[in-house]
Amino acid sequence: MATEIPEGASLLIEQIGTLAVVPPGPIVGAQMRTVPVINDASLLVRDGRIAWFGPTSDAPLDEGAYVLSADGGCVIPGLIDPHTHIPFAGDRSGEFTRRLGGETYLSIMEGGGGINSTSRAVRSASFDELVSENLPRLERMLENGVTRVECKSGYGLRPEDELKQLEVIRALDQQQPIDLEATYLGAHAIPGEFADRVDDYLAEIADPALLTEISGRGLARFCDVFCDRGAFNVDQARLVLTRAAEAGLRPKIHADELAQIGATRLAGEVNAISADHLEQIDDGGITALREAGTVAVVLPGTSFFLGIEHCNARRLIEADLPVALATDYNPGSCMIESLPWIMNIACCQLRMVPSEVLAACTANAAAALDVHQRVGAIKVGFDADLVLLDVPSLESWFYTPGLPRVHAVIKSGQIVYRRPEHAR
Ligand SMILES: [Zn+2]
Repeated sequence: MATEIPEGASLLIEQIGTLAVVPPGPIVGAQMRTVPVINDASLLVRDGRIAWFGPTSDAPLDEGAYVLSADGGCVIPGLIDPHTHIPFAGDRSGEFTRRLGGETYLSIMEGGGGINSTSRAVRSASFDELVSENLPRLERMLENGVTRVECKSGYGLRPEDELKQLEVIRALDQQQPIDLEATYLGAHAIPGEFADRVDDYLAEIADPALLTEISGRGLARFCDVFCDRGAFNVDQARLVLTRAAEAGLRPKIHADELAQIGATRLAGEVNAISADHLEQIDDGGITALREAGTVAVVLPGTSFFLGIEHCNARRLIEADLPVALATDYNPGSCMIESLPWIMNIACCQLRMVPSEVLAACTANAAAALDVHQRVGAIKVGFDADLVLLDVPSLESWFYTPGLPRVHAVIKSGQIVYRRPEHAR
């Protein structure tokens, strides 16, 4: 990836109209609502990390620094998408039309479509085909200001193809600037050949030897389960997540999306790092997440795309849960890969204010991936993952959805993207 910064030189970002000084996550309540800003700011990067930031009038002198102008726009931490289903293959646009005609996500899944349809495509795709089909998706995400993405397996649905997906994630991580965090999701759906033998399927995909291999080879840091009506029940999910934790994989859970079956209580019980979806969460689930310190990952793109009820994110924020937002980018229930678009849906449909939305996509998204100690905030010593926007304020960014506002993206101190009209 080309960059103009000479080896060893610092990077000074000048003429920042608004610097959003997001504190390290997880952050809750009023802290989400009132992210501090510095107007007329500068920010200095050294050795890939934030070395100084503050009002331009106080900027330290660094004569050898490479200077990048923010042209009076906003600078924010790099956006983090903590829930996607990259890598996938195949095309389910036909199902999209069927759903618009009245069929439900669940009825399509029960008829052999849905996740099972993508599973057939992923199983028949070669390793190289999976890499080349998914690389452009990440390149477009970078252009939207995203510097870190969680990616899940879960379409292989048998050990060799689940491992193939995790190895594709590793290859994708090495081939483009966005850092990827991998999650093993063998318990995403019950494949057709195991329709009446769920325990046999669990014996395969939650085999301690397989989980130990995934963890030991560093192929994933997290293990996720789709715990819901039509997927895995609470006892089955508990088995998978408990064994995963014993193998060193941190639990995550798809919870309370379609029905309330106690999945968020399980998230608390197994100390999940995040519980994701939460459209049907109840008071007991909220208490369980708060007591376990679990991050609530809300996926408004999915409810928008499926036309179902949104998660009540305001209720979660008012209960002092650290709320994060993600795309849930996947071929069935949300083909929206743009995190800025999700951020706008969160404003307009979930009634989150711009500051809360930014905190949810930076500090709290970092906490959902256990990387909040070094990314997701503007703090001296943190990785210099930054986005330059050509709008004067966050408010004006979300007020004008759908427009390309990302002017440049910095990853670990390197300029990894510049929108063409800003390129030299
Ligand atoms: Zn998902």
